[in-house]
Amino acid sequence: MESQIEQLIKRDESFRDRLSTIDEKGKRKWVYPKKPSGRFTRYRQAVALVLLGFFFSAPFIKVNGYPLLLINILERKFVIFGNVFWPQEMYLFVLAFLTGIVFIILFTVIYGRLFCGWVCPQTIFMEMVFRKIEYAIEGDYMQQKALDKMPWTSWEKILKKGTKYAVFYAISVLITNFFLAYIIGVEKLYQIITDPIEQHIGGFIAMLIFSGVFYTVFAYFREQVCTVVCPYGRLQGVLLDKNSIVITYDEVRGEPRGKLRKGEKRHLGDCIDCMQCVYVCPTGIDIRNGTQLECINCTACIDACDHIMDKIGKPRGLIRYASRNEIEQGRYPDAEKPKKVTPRMVAYTVVLLILLGIIGGLLFTRGMIGVRIMRAQGSLYQVSESGRISNLYNIKIINKTLHYLPLSLKVIEPANASIRIVGDSLAVAAEGLADGAFFVELDKQPLKGVKTPIKVGVYNREGKLLATAEATFTGPLQ
Ligand code: SF4
Ligand code: SF4
Repeated sequence: MESQIEQLIKRDESFRDRLSTIDEKGKRKWVYPKKPSGRFTRYRQAVALVLLGFFFSAPFIKVNGYPLLLINILERKFVIFGNVFWPQEMYLFVLAFLTGIVFIILFTVIYGRLFCGWVCPQTIFMEMVFRKIEYAIEGDYMQQKALDKMPWTSWEKILKKGTKYAVFYAISVLITNFFLAYIIGVEKLYQIITDPIEQHIGGFIAMLIFSGVFYTVFAYFREQVCTVVCPYGRLQGVLLDKNSIVITYDEVRGEPRGKLRKGEKRHLGDCIDCMQCVYVCPTGIDIRNGTQLECINCTACIDACDHIMDKIGKPRGLIRYASRNEIEQGRYPDAEKPKKVTPRMVAYTVVLLILLGIIGGLLFTRGMIGVRIMRAQGSLYQVSESGRISNLYNIKIINKTLHYLPLSLKVIEPANASIRIVGDSLAVAAEGLADGAFFVELDKQPLKGVKTPIKVGVYNREGKLLATAEATFTGPLQ
């Protein structure tokens, strides 16, 4: 049976046949979005400024002598907020990755594509950097269309297009440099930039490739990244449901749409079919057709429509953040009314916060050192003249700090056990790895059968316990 909304709109369904940016012959349709303006655009600009500020300053910020963020895939070294992670700790990343996937799924089920519109680097760079430069050089969408129609013999076209592409390439090179700074660190990047090219031919080629990729993405590929390449975008169909908050057109209020004619008594919905929401859309869709794969929730259509509603004296929010159910039930015809916080939203948000806590806890409650002890392979227990039993152990220690660490060992359990380090002492260089060996000696008395569990503590020079490790102690049958 047709729903109330379906009865309201008898629309042309041909938009479902292909992507909005592909014509019937399969050729790309270039999108010329109108320059957006309004409150959401202003909020997004503020968020973008903060995020861009972070992106361009983080490589220079040091915490505990380390960069704020370093993702050195080549040397398998990762630094997050000054905490160094080693390849041996990859399980933390695997856990964080899995938790992250669950987080993304839950987040999208409740809040839709909020990430795409407000935080995604592709949207931020495309809409807040490259598009703004394009508007500044070529003008708004009508001037851009006119410029593209000009022949290449026109000086105006050569000058404007030449300037735009030169600026685009310069920014792509800048982004590449910062991108590499997150991988190899600013110091190494500075070296590559200042040394003669032949000394870093590999680094130079990598820079050229990445700059070329960024330039192609932002100058030509643009919204196709979101609609054709991005897996998150393509998953929306299975992640969103009727309760997900997305940018949506209120058909109950807006339909039947129709032009506004002066002096005419209006028996239509609030949509005056002015097409402003379509003109501003950077992915070239008509949001009035409903939630579509191409919509990156950029809010441009909300601002455009709010502006029209202000002009014709109707309440804002004909296009707004709302769930399908809200629209169908006509719950929030007035956008100024507060959104209803449903128990589902609260429950999912609590789960999201717990997941964030787990990730944070996993990543930031690790010790300064990593320790592993194992009984020396093939060795048996020894019995001394005094009757004490000893086992030989190997120890591996990773120093995750920037400092040289002299260490000592003590058996925590069982009591009355003693340790004898093989060699002079135990110490690990800054960011280093050390191997060692030691004997644990025990009286026969605390032995619990053939294998007794032991717990060894690793202490710094000041006697502070830095880590513990467990192993088993073998002895004769009691
Ligand atoms: S901007 Fe608003 S009024 Fe104009 S066509 Fe879009 S939905 Fe209708
Ligand atoms: S439909 Fe609206 S929110 Fe979606 S991409 Fe287009 S302008 Fe942005």
